[in-house]
Amino acid sequence: MIQSKLPSVGTTIFTTMSQLAAETGALNLSQGFPDFDGPDALREAVSRHVFSGHNQYAPMTGLPALREQVAIKLQRSYAVTVDPLTEITITPGATQGIFCAIHAVIRPGDEVIVFDPCYDSYEPATELAGGRCVHVQLDLNDFSIDWEKFEAALSPRTRMIVLNSPHNPSGALISRAELDRLATLIAGRDIYLVSDEVYEHLVFDGQPHVSVLAHPELYSRAFVVSSFGKTYHVTGWKTGYVVAPPALTAELRKVHQYVSFCGVTPLQYALADFMAASPEHVEELPAFYQAKRDLFCDLLAPSRFSFTRVAGTYFQLVDYSRIRPDLNDVEMSLWMTREHGVAAIPISVFYQQAPADQRLVRLCFAKREETLREAAAKLCAI
Ligand code: PMP
Ligand code: GLN
Repeated sequence: MIQSKLPSVGTTIFTTMSQLAAETGALNLSQGFPDFDGPDALREAVSRHVFSGHNQYAPMTGLPALREQVAIKLQRSYAVTVDPLTEITITPGATQGIFCAIHAVIRPGDEVIVFDPCYDSYEPATELAGGRCVHVQLDLNDFSIDWEKFEAALSPRTRMIVLNSPHNPSGALISRAELDRLATLIAGRDIYLVSDEVYEHLVFDGQPHVSVLAHPELYSRAFVVSSFGKTYHVTGWKTGYVVAPPALTAELRKVHQYVSFCGVTPLQYALADFMAASPEHVEELPAFYQAKRDLFCDLLAPSRFSFTRVAGTYFQLVDYSRIRPDLNDVEMSLWMTREHGVAAIPISVFYQQAPADQRLVRLCFAKREETLREAAAKLCAI
């Protein structure tokens, strides 16, 4: 009988809820993905490149033209200069980039600080590297970092900290002041960062995305990860990138070349073409998703759910205390899916130890207007 290396890992909540939505015919506002397609020009570029013979292995580090476009975008978005040759690596999805960054650094006995509720891939990646996650709960009201708890979690074994802003599942944004405080607390210590910024272009109400790339002190020890899937509405393409200083990039690539070697070639050509032709796409993204957030929240206003509009991501947390306080959030998500035709994600699954009285579920608003209207009508009827 095989002894599992990940005994506490089962099927992810995203798979479970998407399957249940499909079985029951519920509107799927659970797993985070758009129900609309990426730009026509981007999809046409893929077929062009497939038919023009770009079907063999891409360079291990990523197509030079795509790394060049990422560097141009980072200059435009954050006024930072990174070297596409030595600091940018294209990976088959952000998940793979995060996995490789963790494995490049973590050794048996090392500790990785993660902030709960936290995205589900950080802990298995850490455990497979022989490390251990130390969970620090974010503030229950606004999901900001609780510095007392953070300082209590720091130890001589702390080797890495995983940040995620905009934050899945809460939508909270990290501030420059928080990054400064973190930099002060870890100064002079042998600690690295993974900064998961896959929702970097989904920030609302005129707020900027505060990237670790633009914080030189933190960047000097960071792997900054993003995903083309979120930015170009193509989550199924599983293409992302990691930006890190040259010494860290060199170590990341040693892992990456044996986890997958390279990303998918025609997708990289297409993304490079599209980014060169349409640099405004990322600048238009906040308004595009803010309109969806606002439509959805306006439609939900008469419902019995309560909520504060999220600052970023394409997820809206809603509190259901006034509807079924007797149900925990897993039960509530199942009930909503089966009885009311809208699938949601419970947020307790993002915690090591979920707060007992939290009554929150996550709804994805990366959906067409008609889907949002139909879902809101069902939610208002609960
Ligand atoms: N990090 C977070 C916070 C996410 O929500 C996701 C999305 N699914 C990922 C990483 C993974 O991105 P990708 O699909 O490119 O692997
Ligand atoms: N990031 C997506 C979410 O939070 C899920 C990705 C996945 O299914 N692994 O919904």
